[in-house]
Amino acid sequence: MTATGGTPGWPHEAPSDVAQALVDMRFVHVLEHGPAVQWQAWQEQRLAALLQWLRQSARWRDWLAPWPGEGGLGRLHALPVMRRADYRSFIEREPVRVPAGFGGIGHTETSGSSGQPVRFAYSALARRLNVNTFAADDQRQGRDTRADTLVVTVQAHPPAGEHGVAEGDPWLHPGRRLIRHSGGYSVEDNARWLCRQQAAHLATYPALLSGMLGAIQRHGLRPPRLRQVITFAETVDPSLREQTQRILGARITDRYSCEEIGPIAFQCPASDHHHHVAVSNAIVEVVDESGHPLPHGRQGSVLVTGLHQWASPAIRYELGDIATLLPHCPVCGVQVPTLTRLLGRRRVLVERASGELVYVRVQAAHWLDAAPGVHEWRMVQTAPRAFDVEVAAAQPLTGDEQAAVQAMLASRIGPEFTFALREVAQVRWPPGRKKQEIVTLG
Ligand SMILES: [Zn+2]
Repeated sequence: MTATGGTPGWPHEAPSDVAQALVDMRFVHVLEHGPAVQWQAWQEQRLAALLQWLRQSARWRDWLAPWPGEGGLGRLHALPVMRRADYRSFIEREPVRVPAGFGGIGHTETSGSSGQPVRFAYSALARRLNVNTFAADDQRQGRDTRADTLVVTVQAHPPAGEHGVAEGDPWLHPGRRLIRHSGGYSVEDNARWLCRQQAAHLATYPALLSGMLGAIQRHGLRPPRLRQVITFAETVDPSLREQTQRILGARITDRYSCEEIGPIAFQCPASDHHHHVAVSNAIVEVVDESGHPLPHGRQGSVLVTGLHQWASPAIRYELGDIATLLPHCPVCGVQVPTLTRLLGRRRVLVERASGELVYVRVQAAHWLDAAPGVHEWRMVQTAPRAFDVEVAAAQPLTGDEQAAVQAMLASRIGPEFTFALREVAQVRWPPGRKKQEIVTLG
């Protein structure tokens, strides 16, 4: 927990980017904690400026033609839903243009929800606001920015040693970030690394967290004591929250974002079941299959509009996630729209016989309890009630183990499904994608 970020000087000596970051973070909280009329007026003004800018292009003029020009946020649904193919097509054909004040242009790639890579542009302004909007969450969640944070990721470039070290900033977050690239290691290696560290926070994907917690338990490792675990990119289920609290002594504080526009919503500091929309960055809608906004409290598809993302604009962009929208947070009372029942990517959801969509997770421990020799598995849904299950194990499964696997899958996913078990020497993962152990019909 040693901070090595150095000592800041006098306040008047703060570099301008530090001063700007403090203003940005303050702005995030002012909008979130103000009355609804305040963030609504601000979003309407930002949206109008963005649409006006885009109308310089003939293609955008056509796309935006249904926009009534007035009526504000309530009329946004007049515009078409932007699907992945539309987004790609705009990016590939339209030149990147931003106002001079937005700064230089960078590029990045995402495989997004569909596994299809897209290369998109962002301005220096959008990048800065994203970074500072994420940083504002430290204050929302009461994190100690003087303490170190462990980051276990699949995205960073692997450092030479077992982790890279990003020194802190003495003004903003004196604590260091220790960044571990999980890809080159087994889950057990990552768990052992985690147990050797002394830090206050851990930031990682729910699936990686779950894998490391399972390894800590299986191998009887002595877990580190953490204060908070920050999760992103995948759905967090209640059992993972309970396990994290029990094993690491830490609360999970989740954030919801996409690479195309950045922060979308942050977990309410007072609730595990609600996420406050990041109104300073995104307009969020929850719509039915034809793109019409659903009444508050109804489950539907999430659309986002990025207010700063002018370089590769996403307007009513369909993420493929399922959630429910409330007009404000019923737990802590902030007046910003709040997402709940955030089920994540439709592709990891299964529709039960009742019609309810559930997020399914089968952890390594479940497999090992049923059949200890299993080392890899992959389930692909082949019909509404059927899964094909590839299992690679050290030895062929016994009759009892096969029965135990069937019973375990029925209890984790639902008794109404059938599971065609196939024992294979090695699971055939599709090339060029993150390993996804459960592929649903989506
Ligand atoms: Zn709240």
